[in-house]
Amino acid sequence: MTPVLACDSVRKVFHGNVVLDDVSLTVDEGEAVVLIGASGSGKSTLLRCVNLLETVDDGTIHLDGRDITDPRVNADEVRRNIGVVFQSYNLFPHLTVLDNITLALRRVHKRRRRDAEQHARRVLDQVGLADRAGAYPDRLSGGQQQRVAIARALASYPRLLLLDEVTSALDPELVGEVLALVHELKGMGITMVIATHEMGFAREVADRVCFLDAGRILESGPPAELFDAPREERTRRFLARVS
Ligand code: ADP
Ligand code: MG
Repeated sequence: MTPVLACDSVRKVFHGNVVLDDVSLTVDEGEAVVLIGASGSGKSTLLRCVNLLETVDDGTIHLDGRDITDPRVNADEVRRNIGVVFQSYNLFPHLTVLDNITLALRRVHKRRRRDAEQHARRVLDQVGLADRAGAYPDRLSGGQQQRVAIARALASYPRLLLLDEVTSALDPELVGEVLALVHELKGMGITMVIATHEMGFAREVADRVCFLDAGRILESGPPAELFDAPREERTRRFLARVS
């Protein structure tokens, strides 16, 4: 089976700084791979390379078997197949929840308004916010806004969902509802790469955890292995610091 995502020896350098060094990673359909590591270890840069917000300096990235690092690919078309949610919700404040979701469906995916709205209501229902369709983002809690951002990403049936610290900007009491939703997505079989600082969550949701250290995947494995029996001293030290 072709993996949904295959990063092969990816290298990224910013101003002579090696930020990703020989990073290889495959994600199969339905898998959730979690990236952990200290701030600055390269998690966001890896996700940004996958989403073609950054170009790699070496190595390749394949999405469904297609080399998306080939300079001839159409980046917009690739991004249509990838859902992304960042730390900040990035909802349009002047649009209702429903319109935040239908905007891309109508503009990018060329769906008709009625069609797009029906679909948007279905995904809002999935994330438990069917009753907030007409609300503006500032009337929602941070947790609800982030669930809308996830709904928006899901609405275009992405092959792959990238979640970058989606709970980092939230008040502690709002983190749980967003993590619970990501958990449900996993149950729905959505293929995901998740960067997070939430170790308990990583342990629960991950099929595989990758520990990034200074731009390298220093070690990776099933959560039980990586968290309970890390092989590398640096992994042990990181885990001792964050848990
Ligand atoms: P993480 O998400 O794990 O905290 P990042 O991928 O954001 O790490 O950053 C990795 C390193 O790359 C950091 O040293 C950061 O300063 C650097 N970096 C990230 N983006 C840029 C950029 N656009 N220009 C220069 N350096 C960058
Ligand atoms: Mg980051």
